Amino acid sequence: MIRFENVTKTYNKTVRALDDVSFNVKGGEIVGFIGPNGSGKTTTMKLLTGIIRPDSGKITVNKYNIREDPIKVKQSIGYIADNPDMFLRLKGNEFLELIGDIYKVSDTDRKKRVSELAEKFGLTEALSSPMISYSHGMRQKIMVIAALMHDPPVWILDEPMIGLDPKSAYELKQLMREHTKKGNAVFFSTHVLEVAEKLCDRVIIIKKGSILYNGTLADLEKENKNESLENIFLELTEK
Ligand code: ADP
Ligand code: MG
Repeated sequence: MIRFENVTKTYNKTVRALDDVSFNVKGGEIVGFIGPNGSGKTTTMKLLTGIIRPDSGKITVNKYNIREDPIKVKQSIGYIADNPDMFLRLKGNEFLELIGDIYKVSDTDRKKRVSELAEKFGLTEALSSPMISYSHGMRQKIMVIAALMHDPPVWILDEPMIGLDPKSAYELKQLMREHTKKGNAVFFSTHVLEVAEKLCDRVIIIKKGSILYNGTLADLEKENKNESLENIFLELTEK
């Protein structure tokens, strides 16, 4: 459902953030995107959503080429950015109304999804307060609700667990599992290995804009003679 083919991205003509990167994510898969700070995770995700453009290469989401069908791609994606500090002057429910309008979500679906998710994340009461008064975790949760409101098949989540309390992190992981069970795709970045270990069908490890590993964690451990994942990861990314 996600296909990245030979994608290169340079910022300001000098910083090569991604260098000839190729990978895919199939329906039914949760794929973890792991790498140290500055390795190109956020850049990859922004390219997938069309927020930024590649120098070269081809990006396809839900069978749509992002250059030819950018709107179709956006409709296919639920994206959580790496920073939830947006639209802070709006109240939670105003922000969700705005997102519902942009994505043309019907009133019935809107009410149903918002109340379900807000209940799950313990955010129902807070929806009538301005988001500037929210904690980081609450802002993160409302971004999750906003991203999932139009029921997109492909989820792209940039460090989604940061700032979430354990219960909300658990709920989000459950949602990710349920989503992929229905044949959809989840692609999320993390630098927390334990999260990847428990959740992912496959991991992609990136460093300095190049993919170092793409496969299951079990195979990675086998290849490295059952060394701990933490050691393997450190060795891969610090060399
Ligand atoms: P990650 O999300 O893995 O921490 P990023 O994709 O944010 O990594 O960054 C990859 C590289 O691109 C880093 O070297 C970073 O400094 C650089 N970079 C990211 N965004 C910009 C930008 N807007 N302008 C210039 N350089 C950038
Ligand atoms: Mg990032």
